[in-house]
Order: sequence, then C-alpha cells, then structure tokens
Amino acid sequence: MPLTDAERDELKKAIGERREVLVAEIRTDLARSRSDSFGAIAGEAPDSGDQALASLVADTDNAETSRDVRELRELDAALVKITDGSYGVCMDCGDDIPVARLRAYPGAVRCIACQSMYERTHSHPPEPKL
Ligand SMILES: [Zn+2]
Repeated sequence: MPLTDAERDELKKAIGERREVLVAEIRTDLARSRSDSFGAIAGEAPDSGDQALASLVADTDNAETSRDVRELRELDAALVKITDGSYGVCMDCGDDIPVARLRAYPGAVRCIACQSMYERTHSHPPEPKL
C-alpha cells in the first residue's frame, strides 16, 4: 500500500529531526578530533555547512562518525525521494516498503525481503571455505 500524504509528512518530519541529531553528533565528533578545520566550517551557512561537513568526514577513520555520515546521506537521499515522489518504494523490486519499516528506519531504500537478500550478498565479505 503506498504511503498516504499524512504518513509521508510524518516521515519527512522524523527524517528532519533525525538529521539534526546526526549533524550535531558529527559536529561534536569533528570538534573533538579536528578542532581547527571544524571551526571554520561550522561558522558558515548551515545548509552548505552540512554538505561540507559530510565531505570533510568522508574519509574519516572514526567508525562511529562514518556511520553517522552514512546515515545522514541516506536521510538526504530519502528527502530527495520524498520530493520527487519515489519515497517508500523498494529500489530492487519496486514494491511499496511497509510504513512500519519506514518509521523504524526512515532511510530504508529496500523492502525487508530485498534488504536481507542484499545484506546476505553484500555486507560481509565471503568467508574462505576451507
Ligand atoms: Zn523489494
């Protein structure tokens, strides 16, 4: 079942709130690890600052920050999809992603079946079978 307008609005709001939390976390991490370059970026306009923030930490070796940045990018992609009307549709099979899944994980781009298939085939490098 496709998302209703109300559900889409609700998820958009949830994504916006989650983004703010992530941006704050990333800024805190950066402030801790790279206080010099961070100060200059944080002082600029918030919107372009977020983008610069993401590219600045793209190659960070801090696992937690990388995770936050990846989630931030997923949420940004989700907002684009909300705008162009393709949000909530599985990118692999084209089925509607259940709203319960989107509420739990607003950046989801696949239905549960396709996601578990994807994780089986992509997430872990194959173990040597000896
Ligand atoms: Zn699917």
